[in-house]
Amino acid sequence: QPSGRSGILAGLDPDQARAAEAVDGSLMVIAGPGSGKTRMLTHRIAHLVLECGVPAGSCIAVTFTRKATEELRTRLAGLLGEQAEAVAVHSFHSLGLAILHAHAGRAGLGADFRIASEAERKAALAETLGVSDTRAARLIKAVSVLKRSGAKGTNEEAEARAVLDRIGRAQGWVDFDDLILLSADLLEEDAAIAAAWQARFPHIVADEFQDVDEQQYRLLRLMNGDSGNLCVIGDPDQAIYGFRGADAACFARFGRDFPAAKTLRLSRNYRSTGIIVKAASGFIEAPSSGPTRPMGEPIVAHAAANEAAEAEFVAGAIESLLGGHDLLAANRKGGGMPTGRPLGFADCAVLYRTDAQAGALRTAFDRAGIPFMKSSPAPIAGHPGVTAILDGLDGVEGQELAARIGQAAEDARRARKADAAALAEARGWLIALANSDQVTGDPLLRLGEATALSTEADFRDARAARVTLMTMHAAKGLEFPVVFVVGMEDGIVPFSWGAETPQEEATQAEERRLFYVAMTRAKDRLFLTRAKERFWHGAVRALPPSPFLGQIAGDLIVSESASGRKSRQTQQLNLF
Ligand code: ATP
Ligand code: MG
Repeated sequence: QPSGRSGILAGLDPDQARAAEAVDGSLMVIAGPGSGKTRMLTHRIAHLVLECGVPAGSCIAVTFTRKATEELRTRLAGLLGEQAEAVAVHSFHSLGLAILHAHAGRAGLGADFRIASEAERKAALAETLGVSDTRAARLIKAVSVLKRSGAKGTNEEAEARAVLDRIGRAQGWVDFDDLILLSADLLEEDAAIAAAWQARFPHIVADEFQDVDEQQYRLLRLMNGDSGNLCVIGDPDQAIYGFRGADAACFARFGRDFPAAKTLRLSRNYRSTGIIVKAASGFIEAPSSGPTRPMGEPIVAHAAANEAAEAEFVAGAIESLLGGHDLLAANRKGGGMPTGRPLGFADCAVLYRTDAQAGALRTAFDRAGIPFMKSSPAPIAGHPGVTAILDGLDGVEGQELAARIGQAAEDARRARKADAAALAEARGWLIALANSDQVTGDPLLRLGEATALSTEADFRDARAARVTLMTMHAAKGLEFPVVFVVGMEDGIVPFSWGAETPQEEATQAEERRLFYVAMTRAKDRLFLTRAKERFWHGAVRALPPSPFLGQIAGDLIVSESASGRKSRQTQQLNLF
């Protein structure tokens, strides 16, 4: 249903258009997955720039992950062309970093402050407090929650926090939480600096608002001031960061803090087939959006003998979906497929609950010759490439990585001209990297640029030719034609922390929402796989099927029992 508007807003439905054109004052947009929230956000910015005469550089979009910022940049470039480069697109962390870099002295930091790795902070804490590594690691996590939520914590936690702050300032480093905390403190304490940022960005949009924590919310409020036009967008049913101090009650708080704010809702799901929308809606209380697409193919459930067989099934299904040998070969050569084309590797994503599950998938994909990229939510320390660099860049993966790094360095050089914020972000990651003990030298500088500054072009190329492997958390906001959710076993989905840690109701509800997020990433095909036995927590275990499987109505799901290998060798599964 088109909006009936002309110009940019013609690409929206009436509800979306109403939200996109409500550009004065504060606005909350609450809607389910695939309802076009992010689409509305990018059209809103394009509308501001192209139709309201607002300079692109006065608009800032804030979201969570680097991947999400890449997605936003890509979509903005599609609407705004070159002007998109002037729009500030930030993760909360890169925004904090940009603010602190601009006013390091005023924030009580040296101009060359850096971000300390978790390992460095852990070691500093263990040494100063005389506690074990395990204890220090636990305290580091607790301090992080304190910093995000604004809570006081136990005496021991408060002491750990004070110690870390002291050492950090003395040695010139901060942690990731400080990027947001200290920049918010700075804006709160220095009215002139706050006013300058407010004047620079009168139009702020924040995507994935359901996952903001106390400090991120505070930073947004301070960036906005009294006169900004802050638009927050999100879905309380997709709140998955409660464990890190985020609080979906932020919507209610926004309503209190901005009593004049409008609230708008979007009610149609454009992303997923009817079957996927219907199945997913069983996992939330009040489904907020109905499907616009045909019912489509049933969800496929598959039970494999073990995790290796599960991974082989996934590899086999991908090969079947991608069709004949020629298409596979074309895909493997890279470059992806032109649009309006058969499925490519980039159209497929495999989502898992924990990173530990990626090993079996890597092995199966390597064996089948399926190119993949493993995406890590961690900014730098967790980057899968870092270790391979360290190992002297051998093997195919090393060469690929080197090529990507070269390309990304090139992109970074271009980005340098275009986007000062991205540069500040890169600088931060580079400083962090340069200061992590093991690494030095130019290749790492380039790696830093690669990880920090994978520009949209890099992102598109990388996605063009590879299957994405990522955690369910990291998949937030993204979409893929084909999604596999693996490890559908009780204890994994929903995750359980073991008998010693009684599962709180809030945690269980969050696990449910996480599965909801995972399912709703799929546009066309959804596969839910499990292993009857797997190596888990140090032993081979037979975990029962996930209770979530039984909660999907029988007419929406079929069991696919053929083993991946068999179906690969005998016939192409008729999956599409
Ligand atoms: P999530 O909660 O998962 O982040 P979302 O609400 O942000 O989802 P989008 O990613 O913006 O949803 O949109 C989902 C898909 O539907 C995208 O591919 C988008 O282009 C498409 N879409 C949204 N609105 C429309 C529309 N009015 N016409 C055509 N396609 C649309
Ligand atoms: Mg979105």
